[in-house]
Amino acid sequence: MDTRTRSVETITPATPGVLSVYACGPTVYRYAHVGNLRTFLLTDLLRRTAELLGLQVRLVQNITDVGHLQDDTNLDADGEDKLLAQARLENKDPFAVARFYEDAFHRDLALLNVKPADAYPRASESIDLMLSLIATLVDKGHAYVGEDGTVYFDARSFPGYGAISGNRLEDLRAGHGATGESTATGKRFHADWALWKRASENRAMTWDSPWGHGFPGWHIECSAMSLDLLGETIDVHTGGIDLRFPHHEDERAQSDCAVGHEVVRHWVRGEHLLFEGRKMAKSTGNVVLVSDVVARGFDPLALRLAFLSSRYRQQANLSWDAIAGAQRTLDRWRAAVAAWAEEPSKPMCAEVQQDVLEAFSDDLDTPRALQVLRKLEKSDLPAGAKFETFAWADRLLGLDLVRDVGKAPVPLPAGAAELLASRAAARAAKDFAASDRLRDELAVLGVAVKDTPAGQEWTLS
Ligand code: AMP
Ligand code: ZN
Repeated sequence: MDTRTRSVETITPATPGVLSVYACGPTVYRYAHVGNLRTFLLTDLLRRTAELLGLQVRLVQNITDVGHLQDDTNLDADGEDKLLAQARLENKDPFAVARFYEDAFHRDLALLNVKPADAYPRASESIDLMLSLIATLVDKGHAYVGEDGTVYFDARSFPGYGAISGNRLEDLRAGHGATGESTATGKRFHADWALWKRASENRAMTWDSPWGHGFPGWHIECSAMSLDLLGETIDVHTGGIDLRFPHHEDERAQSDCAVGHEVVRHWVRGEHLLFEGRKMAKSTGNVVLVSDVVARGFDPLALRLAFLSSRYRQQANLSWDAIAGAQRTLDRWRAAVAAWAEEPSKPMCAEVQQDVLEAFSDDLDTPRALQVLRKLEKSDLPAGAKFETFAWADRLLGLDLVRDVGKAPVPLPAGAAELLASRAAARAAKDFAASDRLRDELAVLGVAVKDTPAGQEWTLS
């Protein structure tokens, strides 16, 4: 689901075979709560699906360790940096605080089987990139230096402003709603935002710049790092729904104005997670961490399964009961997979495989994929086939379902699983020409296919 066009769109990479993805990462001033993790999981599901479909995925996720102010709903808040506030609270160096929570973030991702990104650039180590991007925006007339020495983006210079959030400039009034009252005096227009802020000498986390000693705004970091590491066209940009405005709206304006064309092709945002009916946020005090889940005796992957039970674009209401239910399913599936593995080997159920792949490809319809697998679990198909199919599906689910199995699933040559799924779809659509062509392609890979009343079966030749 693309939140700019507000429709479900087919994602075709700009560079054939390679999908570039930029994911807004954590602000590392505290532990990530499970709401944040649901959003990070969205990127992992997208990535696993693309990889299974044969794409190479290039994924970058930033680490925000400077510039994210306490009140990020205000476009130019003079509020305090989240990291500096936390460092004061912990009586530590802000960079020590940042590295501590960054490590914790990586540990949480690993516990949830989220595959690592190719790069995790830190904002504090990308200052030069931001300065050169700001200079480009000033040169092109999209940014100006205010009387207060702060460099502002000129919102009115980007006609496409508002396409993401629906917040049109004419509707954004100073002192109201999302924009808030400007306290800065150097701004020409209330909806302009700071790219670089002047700071006093004794403030921590500041750098020299052509516009004086200061620190970057939050939005410019994502433009600078994504353009640098992924280039001027990015296939998919992910993040939580709350980032739609102002973060993504401003990022789009900066990036597009710098390069002169639309940079991000698809904006995919995860809906918010509620817990026991209330939004999960530090500000409401309703926060659950992975460590809380583990402390109650649950496997962190039960949390992953609980997330898969709802679709990313819908609000999900998580509860301890839901996690307990997911844990029961996880235990049952792992035991079943281990028992099925003991039975004679059988080819995987290509129709089920096709249905699961289709559900994931259909805007990550994970609840439907789980339903398909539950049906397979209860079916009277051979145990060996159930084993192979669940083992294959786990490449998407990431639940360690084969953890307790003594033997490995039969290794299919690379690309064969996808061809089998396509062939099952061709047969279902009675497209026998395509089905024959796919049989030949599979034969080249050393996979012999036979059609039976229960569907196609394969063996390694
Ligand atoms: P932060 O560390 O606050 O910058 O947030 C990291 C990511 O988590 C962002 O993509 C947010 O949009 C997302 N996020 C924040 N709160 C929630 C929530 N309750 N449910 C889902 N995602 C969230
Ligand atoms: Zn971002």
